[in-house]
Amino acid sequence: DSFFSHVQQAPEDPILGITVAYNNDPNPAKVNLGVGAYRTEEGKPLLLTVLQKAEETLLAKESRNKEYLGITGIPEFNKLSAQLILGSDCPAIAEKRVSTVQCLSGTGSLRVGGEFLARHYGGQKIIYVPVPTWGNHLKIFPLAGLETRTYRYYDPKTKGLDYAGMVEDLRAAPSGAVVLLHACAHNPTGVDPTQEQWEGIRRVIREEKQLLPFFDSAYQGFASGSLDTDAWAVRRFVNDGGEVFVAQSYAKNMGLYGERVGALSVIVKGADVATRVESQLKQVIRPMYSSPPTHGAAIVASILADKDLLEEWKVELKGMADRIISMRHQLFDALKERKTPGNWDHILNQIGMFTFTGLNKEQVEYMRREHHIYMTLDGRISMAGLSSRTVPQLADAIHSAVTK
Ligand code: PMP
Repeated sequence: DSFFSHVQQAPEDPILGITVAYNNDPNPAKVNLGVGAYRTEEGKPLLLTVLQKAEETLLAKESRNKEYLGITGIPEFNKLSAQLILGSDCPAIAEKRVSTVQCLSGTGSLRVGGEFLARHYGGQKIIYVPVPTWGNHLKIFPLAGLETRTYRYYDPKTKGLDYAGMVEDLRAAPSGAVVLLHACAHNPTGVDPTQEQWEGIRRVIREEKQLLPFFDSAYQGFASGSLDTDAWAVRRFVNDGGEVFVAQSYAKNMGLYGERVGALSVIVKGADVATRVESQLKQVIRPMYSSPPTHGAAIVASILADKDLLEEWKVELKGMADRIISMRHQLFDALKERKTPGNWDHILNQIGMFTFTGLNKEQVEYMRREHHIYMTLDGRISMAGLSSRTVPQLADAIHSAVTK
């Protein structure tokens, strides 16, 4: 008899499980709009040209070996990652108030940040996340040891931001609590605060209350096509001199999904504090996975350090962002052409990888069953998975789902 016969079958991950269902569908016309991974017009994964170049150069280097990295990863990668998100002229960097550690993509950065807070945070060990949010937030932070609460964010009536609700909930949070903020391209809603709204949120966090902002930056450059525009909110908070956590992922913006490249930056008040924080981040990382992998971070560092490669990356990044934006227009136009009932302005107004369609679970299930189109049950579709070929198919499916 097994020691494990009592183990229950766990449910599929709500997002990754869609791919499982998709793979099991024999229909050749099937379309997977579930997972947030960029696809070309031809529906293929994209390996950026700049990555191939950087990789070839790395492979040719004589000094290449497979030694361990230090616990915090490649120092050059960390320095350049902090500059990328905070801006190369960031005063906090000059004042040595930033500790950056290489982590396992966005997820790993959030987890290391969460565990550090659970051990050492001097405020309230409670983190507020938006409703809705990327589902993994609700699993990462409790496991890290933080009590996880929610704040209002999305208003289904307007398909936009519930700004009043958000501010009210932050005002009601205990002083010292942590607030998880999506840096840009909020997942799953595609709804971001305006700069004016960010300013209001910042005043509540910094002035009315003493809250700690923890930014999740999974889409820098991927949302608007500009690295600086997409880092605006993070920089606004860092440049007011207060303390900030930022988790960065290179999965989407460099297409490094499976290489698991990311960074956690902790911005504090005082260089001496930053040094001690970093020593404790190492204590979190060492028993978790000892040290991060080399290859992906070496690619990123070589791109960020080289002016030409950096420019080339920016062009390719904008290309991805522009294709997604063009898919928004094509889908919007296709629904208008079909005179599909309802207001679809949000397809154009939302930003980033996803459109939060407003379709309900029954409609999503109907589209899967009858049209072989796969999306998350909350009605989120990955615009990055669409192409000119599949837009009409999706528009037909949405039309029949809302008119049936
Ligand atoms: N945060 C958000 C909001 C995301 O959408 C994602 C990617 N789905 C991540 C973090 C982290 O992804 P990864 O661990 O692959 O970098």
